[in-house]
Amino acid sequence: MFQSYSFTVAARFLRYVQTDTQSDPQSHTYPSTEKQKNLGQILVDELKSMGISDATLDSFGYVYASIPGNSPKHLPVICFCAHMDTAPDCSGKNVKPIVHKNYSGADIVLPDDPSQIISTNDHPYLKERVGDDIITASGTTLLGADDKAGVAIIMDMANFLIQHPELSHGTIKILFTPDEEIGRGVDKLDLLRLGADFGYTLDAGERGTYEDETFSADAVTIHFHGVSAHPGYAKDKLVNAIKVAAAFIDSLPKDELSPESTEDRYGFVHPVRTEGIAEKTTVEFIIRDFVTAKLKAYEDWLRDKMEDVLKKFPGTTSEFTVREQYRNMKEVLDIHPQVSGHAVEAIQRAGMKVRLSSARGGTDGSRLSFMGLPCPNIFTGEMAFHGKQEYISIQDMQKAVETIVYLAKIWDEKAD
Ligand SMILES: [Zn+2]
Repeated sequence: MFQSYSFTVAARFLRYVQTDTQSDPQSHTYPSTEKQKNLGQILVDELKSMGISDATLDSFGYVYASIPGNSPKHLPVICFCAHMDTAPDCSGKNVKPIVHKNYSGADIVLPDDPSQIISTNDHPYLKERVGDDIITASGTTLLGADDKAGVAIIMDMANFLIQHPELSHGTIKILFTPDEEIGRGVDKLDLLRLGADFGYTLDAGERGTYEDETFSADAVTIHFHGVSAHPGYAKDKLVNAIKVAAAFIDSLPKDELSPESTEDRYGFVHPVRTEGIAEKTTVEFIIRDFVTAKLKAYEDWLRDKMEDVLKKFPGTTSEFTVREQYRNMKEVLDIHPQVSGHAVEAIQRAGMKVRLSSARGGTDGSRLSFMGLPCPNIFTGEMAFHGKQEYISIQDMQKAVETIVYLAKIWDEKAD
């Protein structure tokens, strides 16, 4: 299907990364930085020149566009989504992308800062990419493959579908979001306007990767109230809340149930902030697991630990509050097995082995899934993101274009 197609994904990618779209967590505006709209406008112009006439950039920085369906069947509307912003952790200004053709496997020394060396030791996935054309930045900035690769892949998919009207598919929605890196990527999203039934983000790494799971997440806040007294006359009266909190934190296990001691499918209970005076001390936790029911078990366990400490400090009282943060998207995706089934088949049809993966964190997709748009995550090839050694293989991006074209086709084939 792609033998005679000249992919446009690499040329697009090289263009998009040169527009600075860094988001800013300190900002209170939407989008957080106005410059993100510069890329939004470029994308709208390119979509329009392809013939996608409804492409628009709204005041919050979202790009919405649709490719009308041409299938006689009644099909669900599928959305492909990527974020335009880059991480605040590393500069995204004046990015100078470099193409390393036919990568040999040798170290890549970045010319603008020769101390930045991309080696297969630090980046074992590169060993699999020998022979590919690898794109890097020049040493002083990130590359922005996260997630301009996703943007470029979706744009090339649109280009392919427009050039191949004989390929039958339903209505495809395109969505580019701002501010994903600062956790606000869906805050101002208009789901009604988008009008999609199912979505896929393109924002995962190694070729063939499919992520249908994220953590489920709660936050716990504990306030310890001590008994205050003038320290000069406090004998047998004062109970210091700082010491109560310290004893409580010390009672937590060091070698399990912590982010520093867990990986893969294990969850954790993690103190993230503490603040206090003798009278009152607060400890905040984040609670994470792939199994939502386990959050409650961790919270009950944490509450028991708290009660144990209270017994050792008579007179102390406490408050324990739980706040829901986000939930594992798999709970939603399990209700719609075709979303993952079709994606897995598309990856295989594009000639790859599927790498099923779970995100030990939350994504815009997990929020979208619970807002009513089931939305797992597909690979783009982006690697080592948020830093100067970020890289991507052009062949991986092309495979991702093939994958989502097949995906559009499969949704049509499998419908009644
Ligand atoms: Zn991303």
